[in-house]
Amino acid sequence: MAEELLHVQDLVKYFPAAGDWFAQIFDRRVVRAVDGISFEIDRGTTLGLVGESGSGKTTTGRIIARLIGPSRGEVVFDGIDLLALRGQALKAIRKRIQMIFQDPASSLNPRKTVGQIVAEPLRVHGMVKGKDLEKRLVHTLELAGLSARFLNRYPHELSGGQRQRVGIARALAVGPEFIVCDEPVTALDVSIQAQILNLLMDLQDELSLTYLFIAHDLSVVKHVSDRVAVMYLGKIVEIGEVDEIFTTPKHPYTQALLAAVPRPDPMAPPRKVLHGEVPSPINPPPGCRFHPRCERFLGDICREREPELVTLDGGTQVSCHLYSGGDWKG
Ligand code: SF4
Repeated sequence: MAEELLHVQDLVKYFPAAGDWFAQIFDRRVVRAVDGISFEIDRGTTLGLVGESGSGKTTTGRIIARLIGPSRGEVVFDGIDLLALRGQALKAIRKRIQMIFQDPASSLNPRKTVGQIVAEPLRVHGMVKGKDLEKRLVHTLELAGLSARFLNRYPHELSGGQRQRVGIARALAVGPEFIVCDEPVTALDVSIQAQILNLLMDLQDELSLTYLFIAHDLSVVKHVSDRVAVMYLGKIVEIGEVDEIFTTPKHPYTQALLAAVPRPDPMAPPRKVLHGEVPSPINPPPGCRFHPRCERFLGDICREREPELVTLDGGTQVSCHLYSGGDWKG
């Protein structure tokens, strides 16, 4: 039976709207980056978190990795209230939760060798010293598909794929159980993307890892996820099993994202394009946040009333008035 490892409840993160110090003092507007999302991830599985830029997915990952704090909400990891941890207890949990970043070029210190980069988390946690350190480093590099000959190289001497493997090795060094993968293949050439995705899936099997896999590309998420959550303007609009989401997407936004995935056949008829930009998260549209762009807009109900997340037969949850039972009085 599946065992829940991570539980996120009503997570909210607002940032002060950007501006100079004068604006920050007198302008009380906030960027609603994450606005009340809930989900769970079972041990040994992957939840894919997708959405356009500005949907709040990276902010969600950073809160779970404890890189930033939330405005409110709850994150429970293996029964532990993650957001209440401080000091040594927080340091200890960081061994169990690691993060792989989008851009390996900027996430690796250019002045340090690969050996120093991968050794850094081991040093911080006082885990391995002396002779055992080199053995541990080589083992970790090998897990990530590299070898001992990379230990003394610098990031600028590596290809993009090799740099991301170093980023993966750094995350693996302390033996985590849960990894937030924040767009780990977005900055890579297409030919390298599949290698890194396969590596992450092999590591999941070998080390019983659990992933939150963040991406804006649905086709990437499809290959690695057990379940998929679709975010739009700080909200989860649909969440369900990967096959359900890809074969029978329910939310008009999910349908539009899927329709936008390029097809390999250049002669295939053009697909529908999602029109318009994502509105500002400072002042999101009232009612359903997707209503200004929705092809299935129902009128006042969509413009005025925010849809709740409802669970459909089959387990998919969707936030859209097409599925909310028609109790609108107008
Ligand atoms: Fe479209 Fe209305 Fe559903 Fe929003 S609630 S996605 S506007 S149909």
